[in-house]
Amino acid sequence: MSGFLPDHDRAEIRVSPNFGPRREGSRPDMILIHYTGMESAVSAESWLCDPASEVSAHYLVHEDGRIVQMVREADRAWHAGRGSWRGRTDINSCSVGIEVANPGHAFGYPAFPEVQIESVIALCRGIASRHAIPPERVLAHSDTAPGRKIDPGEKFPWARLAAAGVGHWTEPAPIGGGRFLAEGDRGAPVEALQSMLAIYGYGVDISGTFDATTRIVVEAFQRHFRAARVDGVADRSTIETLHRLLSGLSGVVA
Ligand SMILES: [Zn+2]
Repeated sequence: MSGFLPDHDRAEIRVSPNFGPRREGSRPDMILIHYTGMESAVSAESWLCDPASEVSAHYLVHEDGRIVQMVREADRAWHAGRGSWRGRTDINSCSVGIEVANPGHAFGYPAFPEVQIESVIALCRGIASRHAIPPERVLAHSDTAPGRKIDPGEKFPWARLAAAGVGHWTEPAPIGGGRFLAEGDRGAPVEALQSMLAIYGYGVDISGTFDATTRIVVEAFQRHFRAARVDGVADRSTIETLHRLLSGLSGVVA
């Protein structure tokens, strides 16, 4: 393919060969946000378009706000890898992937510039309206692949996006004292925590044992929704924030 018309009207086109058809007639019903995690955005753009990399995304948003579209929204880009959300494992078939240029934790993890975030917001609004994607399905790569991925990371301004109508958000409950659940704990409270995380969408077994996977999923939840402390301990603030988010979901009694 030499080119296509952009789905987002402000996007430049640079075609990636790394895509295929969405499987089983899947349509996009999720937006998945990443950071590039490479020292330079120029190299990231080339990598995502290099047949040898076998990775891609629908969009790359540069630090200066430029938006490059690489794969048509109708097609399946290769950005998510192994993961799950609400029991679904072929995340690439149901999502639109956005790579936000940022060197990531390995290279100092700078803040995301405002002009870049403005473009991400405009892009997400357009994608959500084209495909009727609900706010709670605008997610971090780390939400679908806990323990394997940490992007776009705890500096990604989810509250700023939510203020602009993008994504599902509640102000995190303040960090304070009180009871908490941590690795090694067992029993009904752990089972309740795991149930809440699973209902929200995270891939976690409801075993009643706070195991390493549970800790990793709690960390993923905190990285997105309570980024002031990402420690895998389900303290009151974490549980209360999760509870508030669930209460705001239609069709879920929490
Ligand atoms: Zn990613």
